[in-house]
Amino acid sequence: MKIVLFDIDGTLIKAGGAGARGLNKAVKEMCGADNICDKFSLQGATDKENFTTAFKHACGKKPTAKQFRDLELKYIGFLPAEVKQSIKSKNYSKLNGVEKLLVLLSKRKDVMVGLGTGNLRDGAFIKLEPSGLRKYFAFGGYGCDSHIRSRVLVKAVERAEKLLHAKVRPADVYVIGDTHLDVFAAKDAGYHSAAVMDGFGDQNLLARSGAELIVKDFKDLYPWLIWLGLEKDSKGVRRGTYICPDSPIEHAHYGRTGMDLKDIDDNMRALREMKRKVTG
Ligand SMILES: [Mg+2]
Repeated sequence: MKIVLFDIDGTLIKAGGAGARGLNKAVKEMCGADNICDKFSLQGATDKENFTTAFKHACGKKPTAKQFRDLELKYIGFLPAEVKQSIKSKNYSKLNGVEKLLVLLSKRKDVMVGLGTGNLRDGAFIKLEPSGLRKYFAFGGYGCDSHIRSRVLVKAVERAEKLLHAKVRPADVYVIGDTHLDVFAAKDAGYHSAAVMDGFGDQNLLARSGAELIVKDFKDLYPWLIWLGLEKDSKGVRRGTYICPDSPIEHAHYGRTGMDLKDIDDNMRALREMKRKVTG
């Protein structure tokens, strides 16, 4: 059984900043500070981390357990209206092609699809609801499980094991995200990792993250199905291998970036062109 875990923000959907606005309002009610989320980056971290950081920026100290719970409740209270606002202003969207992939995966008996997200459980569902994608996810790991992203993923796999009444091998877990931190979390947990570039991640950091697959979005499912080991590469390239490059530079480039086959092809062409220019 293969387990495929999806991040939410920037991977399944874009909620048009609804989360940040909800947190801004919650912090303003508690500490009086305006637009606190402008002061730090929310991407790739868990809600637990982001809430603590926001509170510290606004109030100058860490929240107590009670203050943290209050902040969570206020955030969850503000979030539905903020999501609605994003839909109204046409800033809520699904990632290109992601539903096609989810439909395909949910039909397979050898795949289970879950969430691996930094969002609080309630927040995750509030954000997902308008997309109609929620029905594809029977389980998940959430930001309320841990402030460490890799623990969130492990928790998701534990929940899958409970549903399956069987152990899952780390080599059968595939994590899809949009930031280098998603990739690092997957690697920490010993899982496969892939990322979309059309999310909120920093492109340079993503390129160096060593993800096994980095593509724009889900428009073309072919690279995703090859990565997941669900389809054979028609060129006869086995998964986990690549055509031996003809210079150590190309070899090092692949090892460092883990770029996909098209990127490698493009870069090889560019390198050969450069080599031709230098050597004549
Ligand atoms: Mg994300």
